[in-house]
Amino acid sequence: MSREIVNIQVGQAGNQVGEAFWRMLLAEHGLDDAGMYKGNDPQQIARAGVYFTQVDSSGPTKYVPRSVQVDLESGVCNRLRSGPLGQLFRPDTYFTSDSGAGNNWAKGYYTEGAELIDGILDIVRRQSEATEALQGFQIIHSLGGGTGAGLGSLLLSKLREEYPDRMLSTFSVLPAPNVSETVVEPYNSLLSVHQLVDNCDLTICIDNEALYDIAVRTLKIKSPGYKDLNQLIAKVMCGVSTSLRFPGQLNGDLRKLGMNLVPFPRLHFLMPSFAPFYDPKARTFQRLSVPELTSSLFDKKNLLVASDPRFGRYLTAACIFRGKVSSHEAENSVMQLQRKNSNLFVEWIPDNVSVSLCSVPPVGQPQAAVALANSTCMQELFKRNLDQFALMFKRRAFLHWYTGEGMDVMEFTEAESNTQDLISEYQQYQEATVEEEEADVEGEQ
Ligand code: GDP
Repeated sequence: MSREIVNIQVGQAGNQVGEAFWRMLLAEHGLDDAGMYKGNDPQQIARAGVYFTQVDSSGPTKYVPRSVQVDLESGVCNRLRSGPLGQLFRPDTYFTSDSGAGNNWAKGYYTEGAELIDGILDIVRRQSEATEALQGFQIIHSLGGGTGAGLGSLLLSKLREEYPDRMLSTFSVLPAPNVSETVVEPYNSLLSVHQLVDNCDLTICIDNEALYDIAVRTLKIKSPGYKDLNQLIAKVMCGVSTSLRFPGQLNGDLRKLGMNLVPFPRLHFLMPSFAPFYDPKARTFQRLSVPELTSSLFDKKNLLVASDPRFGRYLTAACIFRGKVSSHEAENSVMQLQRKNSNLFVEWIPDNVSVSLCSVPPVGQPQAAVALANSTCMQELFKRNLDQFALMFKRRAFLHWYTGEGMDVMEFTEAESNTQDLISEYQQYQEATVEEEEADVEGEQ
């Protein structure tokens, strides 16, 4: 039995990234654009039920994404409907309107979004009721706009209320100054983080700044567009969900993944890394050894967020090697890396890096590795966001767009202090040592 996940993609980034994700997922499971199985490896299809519903009313089985596509504008979803995946999604799982959120979090969360939330929840409910053992939800969205950020946050809080015992995870695209579209992105993003801290179990952070750098520096794309960035995101989304989608894996469901990666509930912001990223033109030169793959996973250049793990400490990490890789070699090379860099891993969580293998490689690559890490260096991202937020908020710049939708300035102040707290929590665990912890515990008795 597959323990099912319901995917919900919200807003422009959510749906565009979602499209790239589903296309790659289809290829990994040997499915064509219409969801028909064309593969020849039973491993490919054994657990496809995690993300796909099998429909076999008449004729061969069709694999239909268990997904809901939501937007407050219809343009992106219309392109999805008429694009290569036009036959893939159930037509009644789209929910669009034409009100727009105008890059305003308050419209997504309070006004426009709130008016439509019941209709969206109906579709989500239909998808969840058709499952046998729902493990949880995954939301794909950006934090810098209005719909994915505002309505995405509202959806999270509603899902938390209605499904309190299911896992809630997100793939959240953080705004970056060099790919940014509007000046209010730091507002939208900080308001979203405020919600994510409390209403989400696992947030997989994807940072447009890091994607942009990988596209330019490693893939040698001169001026990368969203298509290029989304291709990278899809690779990583497929990578980090490997353990959920193929048989016999460690961290085989969202709850186990959360259990192993999240030592403190608020600190559930995970940074993904992937190796190898390569310039397709230089491909023939790229065959990395297992130790090389391993060190790439912990290298800043291969991270999907723009922060530097050398300035933080790893609380936990999960590595997955794909393709023909011996488990002995994988475990050894991770152990050696940890030994050499022991100062970068907190010593008060023993065995904090898990290693697993999946024989099915990503499409077009003989082998690859991916990691999800919980590092205290995530505080850099929140600091970057907080600084930009604070500059504008101090002068109350642009606030009328939000208060005009009925928002209270207090909510901004609360979001600001929630992020400040989050940063100090990261810092506290970065500095914590075994001895201090013992002293603290004694002190509390
Ligand atoms: P929404 O439709 O109101 O949710 O707004 P958007 O999703 O367009 O949010 C704007 C933010 O998302 C900005 O930070 C953009 O740089 C980013 N963004 C928009 N579309 C894409 C996309 O297709 N891929 C990526 N990686 N980022 C995107």
